Amino acid sequence: MSFSHLGLSDKVLAAVAATGYTTPTPIQEQAIPHVLARRDVLGIAQTGTGKTAAFVLPMLTLLEKGRARARMPRTLILEPTRELAAQVKEQFDKYGAGQKLNVALLIGGVSFGDQDTKLTRGVDVLIATPGRLLDHTERGGLLLTGVELLVIDEADRMLDMGFIPDIERICKMIPFTRQTLFFTATMPPEIARITETFLHNPQRIEVSRPATTAVGVSQFQISVGREPHEKREVLRRLLRDAQDLNNAIIFCNRKREVALLYKSLHKHGFSVGALHGDMDQSARTAALDQFRKGEIPLLVASDVAARGLDIPAVSHVFNFDVPHHADDYVHRIGRTGRAGRAGTAISIVSPLDHKSMAAIEKLIGQSIPPVEGGSAVQPIESTAAAPGGESEQPRHSRGRDGAREGSREGSREGSRGSRKPRREREPRRSGGGRNSGPQPQAAVAAFTPPSAPPPSRTPSIGRPEAPPAPRDTSSEPADHSHLPAFLLRPVRARI
Ligand code: AMP
Repeated sequence: MSFSHLGLSDKVLAAVAATGYTTPTPIQEQAIPHVLARRDVLGIAQTGTGKTAAFVLPMLTLLEKGRARARMPRTLILEPTRELAAQVKEQFDKYGAGQKLNVALLIGGVSFGDQDTKLTRGVDVLIATPGRLLDHTERGGLLLTGVELLVIDEADRMLDMGFIPDIERICKMIPFTRQTLFFTATMPPEIARITETFLHNPQRIEVSRPATTAVGVSQFQISVGREPHEKREVLRRLLRDAQDLNNAIIFCNRKREVALLYKSLHKHGFSVGALHGDMDQSARTAALDQFRKGEIPLLVASDVAARGLDIPAVSHVFNFDVPHHADDYVHRIGRTGRAGRAGTAISIVSPLDHKSMAAIEKLIGQSIPPVEGGSAVQPIESTAAAPGGESEQPRHSRGRDGAREGSREGSREGSRGSRKPRREREPRRSGGGRNSGPQPQAAVAAFTPPSAPPPSRTPSIGRPEAPPAPRDTSSEPADHSHLPAFLLRPVRARI
């Protein structure tokens, strides 16, 4: 199957050819003809499947006819985060270069005035995060009654971030006759309900089983004790000793942890950036750009900031914290092993993480082996500890209205309300006390990196570490002599 069989316009086909893509991905092959036939589409697909082009390319074809009117966008794309919104805009810029379309981005952290000016000129494609979009509609600067096509992307992420009430509000502002394209990686009950309410006889397209992990990703876990410094020590050893490590994203569950780990790694001489939801937009963009360009090989990130980002060729993902929700694990490790490449995902598991790990293994239907030579975690608990068990935080514990207000992009920027997206709120530390994991020091000492290197080996990331310092204290001297040069490149990052 080639792109020319899908019904795309000549201009769009030329733009696709210019990118060098010759064969549509399965989601593109299946979705594009239905979008062009103006049907609603329910796409169950993860990022990395080419799903963005699956809606961008037919939209560009459909938009060749017609003109935008002031303050009345013709099409609307909703994204959960600013980075994802910016990424979608890049695709419109890339594939739509030959068309004179007005594409506008409505995201937090950017001045209202500039956005308002763009809206006044008339917009063909509006790409927005829900909070900022509603802020504009409430100010009266934006009418959604002209929207012919609505895309709701990363819907399950919207749910996690408490955006669903916002989405429902927005859908009600758009004419019933619109076409709706709805993409989600997983189908929890709340998302299924939304699809029944807002899609009309949709074409359902599922390109991979929800919650399956990428085939090319080798997954491992390593056990540590309860103390935070033990995780940091093990992480440093993994970073120094891992084979074929070109770059890595290190995930933490909370933004406070992102900031702490960033500082710690920086102090230990690693070239590292940080990405979390409380950083200002320019710092987020700068960190991401540096990581994409390879200027910094390590990025410490929270789920909110990192989900769905298209960063090609990430060799390693580390779960510094095991995610509390198993589907986040799938998304995190999906940052590596993209486009057919091999990747490695290593989770650092303390006794507090055992329940989350059990839920992950249940979800992905396989057990994750210990790092070769490392100490295994305690046997996985019974499935009674999986999500939905007594200690698991409900996915949707907030009332609708409260969630709406708190979920606004503006709130996360500190300009409204005080609620925070679930992912970046303090997790409940429950259940850990019942687990009897390995003793802290023993766990760290027991770790041997995969294929422990002989002294003469030149590993890709570093030489064997000097004996680890006992604690991460501010007085700890940072010995950088054992690090490879590229990890020591200076980096400016504001977090
Ligand atoms: P997405 O799932 O939209 O995040 O896309 C993942 C990656 O696949 C992006 O880097 C796209 O540029 C790339 N991509 C999209 N369509 C194709 C295609 N037909 N062939 C090869 N790569 C593609």
